[in-house]
Amino acid sequence: MELFKRDGTLFTGTVNTDEKGRLTYTMAISCDRCHVVNGQRVWLMGMNNGRPYSHTGFECWTCGNTGVRRYVEATLYTAEKLVQINTTAATRAARKAEADRIAFEKAEAERAAKLVAFRAENVEFLRKLENLDGEFWVAFRNDFMRRAIAPTERQIALVDGEIAKRAANAASAFVGNVGDKIMAKVTVERIIVLPDYGFGVNYINLLRDEAGNVLVYRGLSDIGQKGETVKLKATIKEHQIRDGVNQTIIQRPKVLEVV
Ligand SMILES: [Zn+2]
Repeated sequence: MELFKRDGTLFTGTVNTDEKGRLTYTMAISCDRCHVVNGQRVWLMGMNNGRPYSHTGFECWTCGNTGVRRYVEATLYTAEKLVQINTTAATRAARKAEADRIAFEKAEAERAAKLVAFRAENVEFLRKLENLDGEFWVAFRNDFMRRAIAPTERQIALVDGEIAKRAANAASAFVGNVGDKIMAKVTVERIIVLPDYGFGVNYINLLRDEAGNVLVYRGLSDIGQKGETVKLKATIKEHQIRDGVNQTIIQRPKVLEVV
């Protein structure tokens, strides 16, 4: 009678019988702690110039340099029995694969349903986000969709603020003509402090007039604190478009009145 190992290879060695009457063979479990180097099995710390080195000798305490960790009795199978257990294993694997597939599809469907609900609940916020271009907002939107958590008050304020700012900037028009002396009522929106490169510190004042136009003053004259509204007179130095925003650059501003 032909006998086979579990992996299907024909067994040709000595057949044993265990206490339950099963046919077995003695299988060597290889040692994984030592290595064959230059035809010799040694335990080693590493290689040095092609030679094994060790501070504690080359003896493998696991296998005594035999290469065999231990012996076990492994079951042998007839051809019929092997077919039977392989069929059983295949059936079990197929059943598991099917169960996994169903679980995966269910999880996918749940995820998709959750995403649809999330989109529906936040339709207005998402519409706003989709209209904001630029690297920061694309990342913000991707992050928001990935987390799928309702927006915080702070996120809503951030988005609304950006939309308001863009609308105001889009409406900004050039004021007057270069060389004109103007009087304007402006609100200080932002003051940027320029680094001191040896010429002293300098300031860029971003201002907005009553019509929503952006005025810019670069210099040391004090126009006011952020948020303050003043009446001033100034000379128009230049018209420029920056980041798509029409900006009127002024010089020699003189504050007439703090409103
Ligand atoms: Zn060993």
